[in-house]
Amino acid sequence: MSFAENLDSIQQRINAACARADRAPGSVTLLAVSKTHPPEAIRAAVDGGQLLFGENKIQEAKAKIPLCPGKARWQFIGHLQSNKVRDAVELFEMIQGVDSLAIAQEISKRAESAARTMPILLEVNVAGEGSKFGYAPERLRAELLALNALPRMEIHGLMTIPPFAAVPEKARPHFQKLRELKTDCEQILGAPLPHLSMGMSGDFEVAIEEGATLVRLGTALFGARQSRVRHAPE
Ligand SMILES: *Cc1c(COP(=O)(O)O)cnc(C)c1O
Repeated sequence: MSFAENLDSIQQRINAACARADRAPGSVTLLAVSKTHPPEAIRAAVDGGQLLFGENKIQEAKAKIPLCPGKARWQFIGHLQSNKVRDAVELFEMIQGVDSLAIAQEISKRAESAARTMPILLEVNVAGEGSKFGYAPERLRAELLALNALPRMEIHGLMTIPPFAAVPEKARPHFQKLRELKTDCEQILGAPLPHLSMGMSGDFEVAIEEGATLVRLGTALFGARQSRVRHAPE
């Protein structure tokens, strides 16, 4: 199947999930997760009509993005370390996965040096898994006003990676929890947050039914990932 045909069938599944949830089809943005895939794959995707991509390693993104079509747009979806923030601010239109005040302060500072404002999503560890990055909901509520006060960083919403489950339905309570937490955050901030980034290849339809505005799909669009080329530690 060509990328365009594949994209078309995914878009139909997105539209059907929107219809089930009484949502407008345009209310869900598809982010193509291109990590480990080479520039040729991204070129084919752009030719097929996909313009928004996600990467989770700064080093890989820094090497790859300059080799990709200029109209491609990029979001960072990984865990960011403070020594990589400057690159992230330069390479990406949005940083998903902010999970501490310290990293947020660094983003605001680097965005100021780059004369821009950085949109971000706050990552939440909804299931409290020890192995995962992300805010515990309580800590997020407690830090939210301090995060929101940073001058060059704009909170656009929340993102989560729920525990792996073979059955998509198992992710539903985690998606519901993120949606409810977004409502809490909106109350604390007194302002709406546009984005809920949740749903990957295995569970994006359930995520859309629960209110996802951004779904992050890798495997469903590009096929299986090659094992990652080994880089120096990030
Ligand atoms: C890799 C990755 C995805 C995509 O996963 P698939 O199961 O291949 O769709 C989505 N979100 C994040 C944060 C990722 O790291």
